[in-house]
Amino acid sequence: MLRGPGNACSGRRKNYNNGGIMDLGLDGQVALVAASSKGLGKACALAFAREGARVVICARDEGELVKTKEEIRDRHGVEVLALSCDLTQASAIRRLVDAAAAKFGTIDILINNSGGPPPGFFPDMEDEDWQNAFDLTVMSSVRLTREVLPLMKKQQYGRIVNITSISVKQPIDQLLLSNSLRLAVVGWAKTLSNQVAGEGITINNVCPGWTLTGRVEQLLRSQAETRNISIEEAEKTITDGIPMRRLGSPEEFADLIVFLGSRRSAYMTGTTIQIDGGMTAGYD
Ligand code: NAD
Repeated sequence: MLRGPGNACSGRRKNYNNGGIMDLGLDGQVALVAASSKGLGKACALAFAREGARVVICARDEGELVKTKEEIRDRHGVEVLALSCDLTQASAIRRLVDAAAAKFGTIDILINNSGGPPPGFFPDMEDEDWQNAFDLTVMSSVRLTREVLPLMKKQQYGRIVNITSISVKQPIDQLLLSNSLRLAVVGWAKTLSNQVAGEGITINNVCPGWTLTGRVEQLLRSQAETRNISIEEAEKTITDGIPMRRLGSPEEFADLIVFLGSRRSAYMTGTTIQIDGGMTAGYD
């Protein structure tokens, strides 16, 4: 018998692609968004909540995390679990996933995200810098996925999206650690996506280009100060290299993540997609 989207579904699922309006099927689902007190992670958590999902957020900074939890609840009225977690620590990741599963019963969507590795050139990097960046960039995704995958396998359904960077499409000069280690995430994700594809689980990578989070605002301010130019001029030096001539917004970014994390994204897996206003120079 031919297996299409209708008959390949387990009993728990229904076919959301029924020719009607685009129901993302996120109502009541559980989304764990890592590193989500600020920036892209926070925008993703807000966007999943807007679609009716219950969300688990985490970061190291407790104060910011509590503010984000309240903002999500106030704006969208969904259940939010906020837990302080250092994503470089295996034991903290285990505690996070255990607490999420205890509260919500399962995790349907995992968004792997973390702070970016520090900039710098080869002579600047000691073994310790490489190891720290490896724990933050690669192992946080590996460990979160290792903890969450059994829940997804049990229900024969899951969506995993890794937030990486356009540095996996074209290297960025001063970002040696990002250029090197994010490719390990892409290789790992592609390999694993093939191994779980038959179990209703998809894994994709999303590569943000310049997106206006607090971190980028801070970067623009410090560039303006160092070079004695205005913030607008500092921004223009970046946007001149982007065909759309503007930075992206965290909300635009989050909409792509929400789609890839939804039931409607059922046949995409193992992909690495940039969202960069056309900045990546190559074909893919
Ligand atoms: P951000 O600094 O605004 O937010 C990072 C989040 O990660 C914060 O919530 C912070 O508390 C949390 N975090 C950092 N280290 C952590 C740790 N060890 N444990 C737990 N939480 C931790 O950054 P952003 O702009 O939202 O970027 C998110 C990711 O996307 C980063 O890896 C960044 O390098 C990458 N990226 C961003 C852009 C961009 O233009 N914004 C472009 C390319 C790639």
